[in-house]
Amino acid sequence: AKHSGRSQFHYFTSYMQELAQKRHVMLSDMHKAIKEGQFEVYYQPIVDTRSGKVVKAEALARWKHPKNGVISPAEFIPLAEESGLILEVGSWIYKTAVSQVAKWREEYDPEFKVSINKSPIQFKVSQTLDEWMSHIDESGIDGTSIILEITEGILMEEDELVKQKLMTFREKGIEVAIDDFGTGYSALSYLKKFDIDYLKIDKSFVDNVATSQQDKVLSEAMIAMAHKLDIQVIAEGVEDAEQKEILTNMGCDFIQGYIYSKPLPAKEFERVFLA
Ligand code: C2E
Ligand code: CA
Ligand code: CA
Ligand code: CA
Repeated sequence: AKHSGRSQFHYFTSYMQELAQKRHVMLSDMHKAIKEGQFEVYYQPIVDTRSGKVVKAEALARWKHPKNGVISPAEFIPLAEESGLILEVGSWIYKTAVSQVAKWREEYDPEFKVSINKSPIQFKVSQTLDEWMSHIDESGIDGTSIILEITEGILMEEDELVKQKLMTFREKGIEVAIDDFGTGYSALSYLKKFDIDYLKIDKSFVDNVATSQQDKVLSEAMIAMAHKLDIQVIAEGVEDAEQKEILTNMGCDFIQGYIYSKPLPAKEFERVFLA
């Protein structure tokens, strides 16, 4: 038994070494990726349940690795966050998505909006916020074209600076969405302290909305609560017609998910949904 314990330990440490090695390689690749422009922004349509029109898109990052192919953000965003590289990558994503929406507004739909994911660290580094703000001022971008997706954690912290900055964003017309709603903290008091524009019901509820009475009741309650607080609701990860119908009947305002489309490169999104 002792023997097998030792070999398991050996196995474990070499596994850890392998992980550390992988992480190291990925980090140095990421530095290169920033310099060589290997990142791309994909767009996934968000449909208004009343008009049936695509009125917004969520910007989702992709990394086109020259050897390993397309790497999912679920893989590289956590490492980018840990290492601080998210500041550089995030700033590029932000600028790319913001100028893309300006172009789409001019060519196709003057009210189109793009929804951009923001990591907590991007909010904590005050310089980042200043940078976004001056980018908006300098480029003459209309703030109403932007939605920032944040997670509940950001608003739970007693960080006055973050709160102030968020308010300044809103003064420019930028909207705020709570991403992955219902999966994190349970306290809801922040909803009355801030002007939130949207709640995004997490996919984990949407997945079972047709099969689980509990998830159905919870989704319904989230929608009712949001509407009473004058907040609109986006359901994410909607994959089939039944889910879409149930959520629409509950009064959900917007639907996002594979039922309409996977995230697409800008050109393709434009061709399929805007042109
Ligand atoms: P998220 O913000 O919750 O984004 C939704 C994820 O669900 C996306 O995965 C999207 O492709 C996927 N999705 C949408 N509809 C469906 C569906 O019907 N079925 C299924 N199975 N999946 C669906 P993606 O693009 O891989 O992004 C994963 C996560 O990475 C995002 O989750 C977000 O947390 C993070 N992320 C992506 N882009 C950025 C970014 O630019 N900045 C930051 N900070 N995080 C990002
Ligand atoms: Ca999101
Ligand atoms: Ca989400
Ligand atoms: Ca999610």
